[in-house]
Amino acid sequence: MKTRYFDHAATTPVRKEVIKEMLPYLEVEYGNPSSIYTLGRHSRKAVDTARKRVASAINSKKGEIFFTSCGSESDNLAIKGIAFANKEKGRHIITTAIEHPAVLNTCKWLEKNGWEITYLGVNEYGKISLENLEQSIRQDTVLITIMFANNEIGTIQPIQQIGMIAKKNGVIFHTDAVQAVGNVRINVQELNIDAMSMSGHKIYAPKGVGALYIKDGVKFERIQQGGHQEQGKRAGTENVAGIVGLGKSIELIYDEFDSYNNHLLNMKNYFIKQIESHVKDIRLNGDRNERLPGNVNFSFRGIDAGELLLNLDANGICASAGSACTSGSVEPSHVLVATGLGEEFIRGALRVTFGKDNTKEDVDFLISTILEYIKSI
Ligand code: PLP
Repeated sequence: MKTRYFDHAATTPVRKEVIKEMLPYLEVEYGNPSSIYTLGRHSRKAVDTARKRVASAINSKKGEIFFTSCGSESDNLAIKGIAFANKEKGRHIITTAIEHPAVLNTCKWLEKNGWEITYLGVNEYGKISLENLEQSIRQDTVLITIMFANNEIGTIQPIQQIGMIAKKNGVIFHTDAVQAVGNVRINVQELNIDAMSMSGHKIYAPKGVGALYIKDGVKFERIQQGGHQEQGKRAGTENVAGIVGLGKSIELIYDEFDSYNNHLLNMKNYFIKQIESHVKDIRLNGDRNERLPGNVNFSFRGIDAGELLLNLDANGICASAGSACTSGSVEPSHVLVATGLGEEFIRGALRVTFGKDNTKEDVDFLISTILEYIKSI
């Protein structure tokens, strides 16, 4: 049976061009980038090229990019690193109730260790209120950490305005852009972003590599003791092949931005239109317009999304009932709860996230399989 993959917010396949670029660094160019001989210097150069590519994709300086092992590590490093370094100034952090667990649980850990956290609520579309944000800022607020785009419902936050509010109040602004990178054009300077988390495996690079942008001048303390890699901000021998893959994939995705974006938008709009014209009791979760181009999250009232997913799986279709990290858990999605959605709509929430290799024929098959299932129950 053909596999039809609609879970690109969970992970993506590695692109052929990316694998090709990575392979030499697994097979022959295996030097440690810290070694001074030629083989080591080749690896250092490859890491350097990747750093330039990431920096150029988001309009930062090369020296403001630090490679990590994943988006979760980038979030931990940014939030703890900024919190520790600025604790003399204050111990208050502002975040939202709909963050990925990598941010939420890091904030909860800090809360247990003497920091105070404000969790901003969101409206029914998953957006924060800028007035609430401004009112929450205190004398001792050192960090605002608000995700760029939500992994479950796709809602994009007003990042530029958040950046302006942070700047005006002298507060550092970190954003988890794991879902936004590649799907949204990002200029960290125009958006007033001080720190930003990225992950390779959401943009057709391998799992096990991530990056963190930290603006020059942001007070930051390392959280992992060890060697001096990554300008002393992140210890550990670099994952050279993974870093090369991330550099290549971010360059490719932004080179092809318009066609990739249009492809995702076309599939998303087509899918939404077809489902809404055939099924009654449904709700599109997230903001209809300010959302990721490939994300659809529908709640089907009276349908158990777990059962629906099993049926889709039996037909070779991969989709999700919530975020990848929380699927399999019986807890209702904290994101949907925060949007005020009722229990019976939460239980019926299906997330479909499109990718570059999906075709119209795939989407038609997805639609007909969903419609047949709904008719059958
Ligand atoms: N942040 C967001 C918004 C995500 O969607 C994810 C993964 O789903 C992460 C962080 C964690 O990224 P990683 O899987 O690279 O640790």
